[in-house]
Amino acid sequence: MRYREGLPLVLKGLTMHVRAGERIGVVGRTGAGKSTIMSTLFRLIELSGGTISIDGVNIAEIGLEDLRSKLAIIPQDPTLFRGTIRSNLDPFDEHTDLELWNALRQADLVGESQAMEDDARIQLDSPVEDEGLNFSLGQRQLLALARALVRGSQIIVCDEATSSVDFETDQRIQRTIVRGFQGKTLLCIAHRLKTIIGYDRILVMDAGNVAELDSPLAL
Ligand code: ATP
Ligand code: MG
Repeated sequence: MRYREGLPLVLKGLTMHVRAGERIGVVGRTGAGKSTIMSTLFRLIELSGGTISIDGVNIAEIGLEDLRSKLAIIPQDPTLFRGTIRSNLDPFDEHTDLELWNALRQADLVGESQAMEDDARIQLDSPVEDEGLNFSLGQRQLLALARALVRGSQIIVCDEATSSVDFETDQRIQRTIVRGFQGKTLLCIAHRLKTIIGYDRILVMDAGNVAELDSPLAL
């Protein structure tokens, strides 16, 4: 994969198979190509060569909407849309309030415990400003997680925030991922090894190549 003609390849010779329900942690230096893998899965950028298949179907041969409806992403810096919490979680009005509240609860954005200082802010009709800038980065990641929970996708892709998310929020994000997505296929880019130590396999990326791909214990 290259970003533009004339630019060098960013992913090269990357071959891997992921089993359904497997949890893969992705690590590597900045610029190694981790986020680029995610962009190719969603076909934000087309491959210059090679293929990506899901359930044996080459993703280049299916419609973009079809492809993207099967995947859920929690990006490095999630943007929300102007609207409400509800319209962000459920843009096509397909889910009940109960489902939406459950997702918010699972993502630890609201709790019985009242532990969150900003509990009072999160209501289904709470306004979301352009790009969700009235929410912190950690909250936007948790909302992106809640959106993925609502959609019930089988494949979840997450890109851990590089900029500092506080420890408590980071714990919340990880707890939600582990509890909320049981049995789902998970590809999670991590910047701290401890967040993915319990995953099935770790993909270590180095300059667009696979440096290692094995269980955390073997590495
Ligand atoms: P980080 O840990 O900092 O998030 P990463 O492993 O996710 O890094 P990528 O964002 O995938 O790295 O970038 C891989 C390479 O592709 C880098 O050399 C980067 O400069 C280049 N790159 C990324 N996005 C673009 C773009 N939009 N146009 C051109 N080159 C890009
Ligand atoms: Mg990245």
